[in-house]
Amino acid sequence: MARLKAGVIGYPIKHSVSPAMQQAAFDHLGLPVEYRAWEVRPEELESFAAGLRGGGWLGVNVTIPHKEAILPLLDRLSPEAAAVGAVNTVAVADGKLAGHNTDVAGFLAGLPPGTDLRGGRALIIGAGGAAAAVVLGLVQLGLAEIGVFNRHPDRAARLLTRFAGQDRAVRLRVVRPDELCAYARDCILVVNCTPVGTVGTAFAGQMPIPPECLAAGSFAYDLVYNPPETPWLRAAQNRGARPVSGLTMLVHQGAAAFRLWTGREAPVDVMFEAARRALSEFDDASVSDGGRIPR
Ligand code: NAP
Repeated sequence: MARLKAGVIGYPIKHSVSPAMQQAAFDHLGLPVEYRAWEVRPEELESFAAGLRGGGWLGVNVTIPHKEAILPLLDRLSPEAAAVGAVNTVAVADGKLAGHNTDVAGFLAGLPPGTDLRGGRALIIGAGGAAAAVVLGLVQLGLAEIGVFNRHPDRAARLLTRFAGQDRAVRLRVVRPDELCAYARDCILVVNCTPVGTVGTAFAGQMPIPPECLAAGSFAYDLVYNPPETPWLRAAQNRGARPVSGLTMLVHQGAAAFRLWTGREAPVDVMFEAARRALSEFDDASVSDGGRIPR
């Protein structure tokens, strides 16, 4: 049987975890799919997307810098992709391209089973594409308030306007630098949606927020997954907070993409193992681009 093609597109893309993680899943289930990293420059995106329609493709993951640029090149968007304004997974069927955002499901699946955030406050640090997916995930969980802090506050305000029209009871607000620590102490969940703490970057040893600002028993969720246990997560745990590694989200967003493409349950444990192994094989020098590691 001819092998179908799949992969991850980005620029740069050399050190992506996705090929190891997804190929392990396809091989584990004996599916005839070859998944590889495709380096696609911004000026090549349109012709690459047109090529996906030509047959033989199952789909692709999409990473920096194409997550927003690919939107107008697709035939339809899932409600999540439309709400977030970014696509991280394209599914190909009958020459048509459907855009999805599995970061939303991946983020939610990363929360420990049984987590109940109803009536609480959450703080999101960062206001980029990942933060948008996290806000969309969190508005579904019955929180009373979601605060967003960003070093450039105008971007946080723009992010919240995107969700302001949602018919939800949750309050959305921008958190100012002078109130950050006190606000965090009142939160049941703090999520780092910046690359701060990523190995091999200028801010590798830094923390998105001082760990002493976290309340004991609250969740500290770091979207950074290299290393899987960041200095912030270690410090948060020492303060009595409950750490959640970005590796969990990484694997679950990949598993959600796998399900979209194949209609099969993803072998999550196999994907975890493969992602861990791939990450351990990267050395510090291999990480660049401001800490945004292509998936
Ligand atoms: P993005 O759209 O480029 O946004 C980056 C955000 O981080 C912006 O809010 C930016 O602030 C802030 N930031 C960047 N450098 C900073 C610094 N040195 N200090 C403070 N803030 C800084 O990127 P993204 O797609 O949202 O991704 C953000 C992070 O999440 C990346 O590390 C990415 O690898 C990770 N991620 C992980 C997963 C997963 O599955 N675990 C999924 C998606 C993303 P300004 O607006 O002020 O520039």
